[in-house]
Amino acid sequence: MAKTIWVLVEIEDGRPARSSLEVLSKAAHLGRAEAIVLGSAAATVAPSLGEFGAEKVYVHADPTYDTYLTLPAVDTLSDLLQRQQPDLLLFPTTYDVRDIAARLSARHNLGLITDATDLRYDESERLEVTVPWGGENVVVATHPYQGTGIVLARPKAFSVERFEGRQAEIEQLSVTLRPESQQMKILDRVEVQSEGPALEDASIIVSGGRGLGKPENYRLVEELATVLGGAPGATRAIVDAGWLPYSYQIGQTGKTVKPTLYIACGISGAIQHLAGMKGSKYIVAINKDEHAPIFSVADLGIVGDVLTVLPQLIEEVKRRKA
Ligand code: FAD
Repeated sequence: MAKTIWVLVEIEDGRPARSSLEVLSKAAHLGRAEAIVLGSAAATVAPSLGEFGAEKVYVHADPTYDTYLTLPAVDTLSDLLQRQQPDLLLFPTTYDVRDIAARLSARHNLGLITDATDLRYDESERLEVTVPWGGENVVVATHPYQGTGIVLARPKAFSVERFEGRQAEIEQLSVTLRPESQQMKILDRVEVQSEGPALEDASIIVSGGRGLGKPENYRLVEELATVLGGAPGATRAIVDAGWLPYSYQIGQTGKTVKPTLYIACGISGAIQHLAGMKGSKYIVAINKDEHAPIFSVADLGIVGDVLTVLPQLIEEVKRRKA
């Protein structure tokens, strides 16, 4: 019998979040995908979810979810879980969802696997989840617990797909939200302004590492990213050194990116960094050490000093664009 998989769909600017749709599409390939969508825009978003693979959508269009941190969503999901036992909760990895999943896991004693890059049911219908470990992708068999499991998927692990003509059955949830779950209130939302595309969405990424020598030289990475219409990224080494905020970090403990072009500047190519960028279509590496491991994944390698090569590249791109 087809597995029932629940996907919590988050809403961003009135639309389903891309990371939720990636997971929903994957769930639709694994079994019967059922979406749960909560918040003031839930009723507007729900009908579109069939097209992304949902066969059923549970809706609670209550603004309480927009105002208070995760606890109302935890209560609603808990309530649903008491009435039904899906085989799997497959959720996107976001700040809120990590919190929700951890609380559900503790409340219902459900096995939780985070950071999944892939998952499948084997011939015996056991779920196999792939997670990066030590820079490689390893398969771990889930779950030590019987019953429903929870898996959090990495952003960009799956593609958003269209299931043309699919229409989801919509069920309005009638839940009474407890006042106790409305104690942590969202007071303000501050958007971090950045120029150019976000790292996760960029088709070109120029990334810098310790080989840049000092923080001021990172401006070369930013400049090349700007002239190419891409986004700048970084290794953990320079994020840990305080050159840049964590949001720039690419790798096992940072973001996973899959641009068309990834230009690695002064980056050694440690396995933890490769874990976050080796899915890039084309990789160009600039490193003064011809034996640097980054060259083993590069389509084009430039052995040289980044401080010499980057200004030349920037000038050349500008000249060709002029
Ligand atoms: P280095 O390894 O120091 O490399 C610098 C490179 O620059 C060298 O290859 C050198 O030849 C070259 N170079 C020096 N000068 C020049 C020059 N003038 N011109 C050209 N090249 C030059 N790292 C991540 O990036 N992301 C992660 O998410 C991440 N997670 C981790 C998780 C764990 C649990 C652990 C243990 C480590 C993690 N790391 C991560 C750290 C990782 O192991 C490496 O330490 C890090 O990626 C190295 O960064 P780097 O390439 O900038 O620096």
